[in-house]
Amino acid sequence: MTTLTRSDWEQRAQQLKIEGRAFINGEYTDAVSKETFECLSPVDGRLLGKVASCDSADAQRAVENARATFESGAWSRLAPAKRKAVMIRFAGLLKQHAEELALLETLDMGKPISDSLNIDVPGAANALSWSGEAIDKIYDEVAATPHNQLGLVTREAVGVVGAIVPWNFPLMMACWKLGPALSTGNSVILKPSEKSPLTAIRIAALAVEAGIPAGVLNVLPGYGHTVGKALALHNDVDTLVFTGSTKIAKQLLIYSGESNMKRVWLEAGGKSPNIVFADAPDLHAAAKAAASAIAFNQGEVCTAGSRLLVERSIKDTFLPLVIEALKEWKPGNPLDPSTTVGALVDTQQMNTVLSYIQSGHSEGAKLVTGGKQILQETGGTYVEPTIFDGVSNAMKIAQEEIFGPVLSVIAFDTAAEAIKIANDTPYGLAAAVWTADISKAHLTAKALRAGSVWVNQYDGGDMTAPFGGFKQSGNGRDKSLHAFDKYTELKSTWIKL
Ligand code: NAD
Repeated sequence: MTTLTRSDWEQRAQQLKIEGRAFINGEYTDAVSKETFECLSPVDGRLLGKVASCDSADAQRAVENARATFESGAWSRLAPAKRKAVMIRFAGLLKQHAEELALLETLDMGKPISDSLNIDVPGAANALSWSGEAIDKIYDEVAATPHNQLGLVTREAVGVVGAIVPWNFPLMMACWKLGPALSTGNSVILKPSEKSPLTAIRIAALAVEAGIPAGVLNVLPGYGHTVGKALALHNDVDTLVFTGSTKIAKQLLIYSGESNMKRVWLEAGGKSPNIVFADAPDLHAAAKAAASAIAFNQGEVCTAGSRLLVERSIKDTFLPLVIEALKEWKPGNPLDPSTTVGALVDTQQMNTVLSYIQSGHSEGAKLVTGGKQILQETGGTYVEPTIFDGVSNAMKIAQEEIFGPVLSVIAFDTAAEAIKIANDTPYGLAAAVWTADISKAHLTAKALRAGSVWVNQYDGGDMTAPFGGFKQSGNGRDKSLHAFDKYTELKSTWIKL
């Protein structure tokens, strides 16, 4: 916890030293081309600094280094207990630098400083230490062989991992990949989003300080169509792990097929249904959760509860409770510790959100709260949390991922209808069900085509449970021991005795 005030954070922001260079083989370095791009803060439009704009030449350097380090065994062949100790030190350094990292995150992507400090940085550190702690407790297998045979089923690190991550939880999404990727002994090239590269760049130095050998963690900031594409097409990247949009996820599968058939693991978009039955145990709690499900992190959450499915008999009592609860979520200066909703990541994203709001109007949905850009005088990118009622699931605002604070309210009459609407989307990331009837809860949860289902809450889970999507929300899982599957190959060694 911190007692820092907004003016303390402002002062620290003035003094903050921002590193914008790439990190290859244990050192900060300019892009080979010397190209940079400007990193602007969505808080107020201020210029934070110049960031290296890496491309295929940098990808080539980083992959060569990562491969050589992997082959050297300096990290890949270290005893698991030793890697564990280093990963725990790495996590500890994130916590030690929590205020600096939180400030970088907030300035870079606009989320409230209290969230950066209390959610993002601890969540990122926990992903590193949890995976590290697990690595010397996982055993391989001995197959059920005939008497004169010994069958060993072992896991080996895949080698060089490219990790391409988005801007909504920049540090945490990176660490969901880095935790298991590094713990299992791989070398990693991390490509943060061009919209929020700063914390990824910063933690590369902390990794080396923790004892991760140079060349094991490399960070290449830059655009998707340049350095991201170069990594995805590179013939010496063994595995690509990705969090981002479904559109780019599909493109990465093509790049893999066009190159070395690298393994591709995808965490993509969502349009998650939050189903409130008339017998929900506590409508006030459900309303508060529905509000936070769309307003937390400015709605820039892959699991945002962006479709609120409400049983028609309670809609007229429930919707006013949600509108009331949403008043707690008012955009303000992200550096103010009391702010609950910050700025959208940039002008482009704000315009996308505003155009979806326009589409809601033109398709005939009824705006019941919000709907406007605000705080223009700050120079930042702020949009009011917004609710549309009377939405049909066929409307664009119900089908497409908005990635902003825009909630679509859809009425239903029966459980079967709710399930049909809930599943009527290309996505399958998450869903929630509110009911006091345990059978209805289980039956609905089973029927929902989603990687995570929450009952009488929204957004539960921790590092112990896998996270990922059905359908076009992706493949594979982050978090939990299941995440290790992405970063290891299974080997069968069959020995004649
Ligand atoms: P995005 O797909 O635009 O970008 C993600 C990353 O891919 C960025 O680093 C980007 O530079 C890179 N990229 C873009 N084009 C590329 C290309 N041609 N080749 C290689 N890399 C390329 O997504 P975004 O806007 O950064 O993030 C928002 C999306 O992320 C949303 O769809 C959201 O649902 C999703 N997301 C999913 C999860 C999850 O766990 N399922 C978590 C957070 C965010």
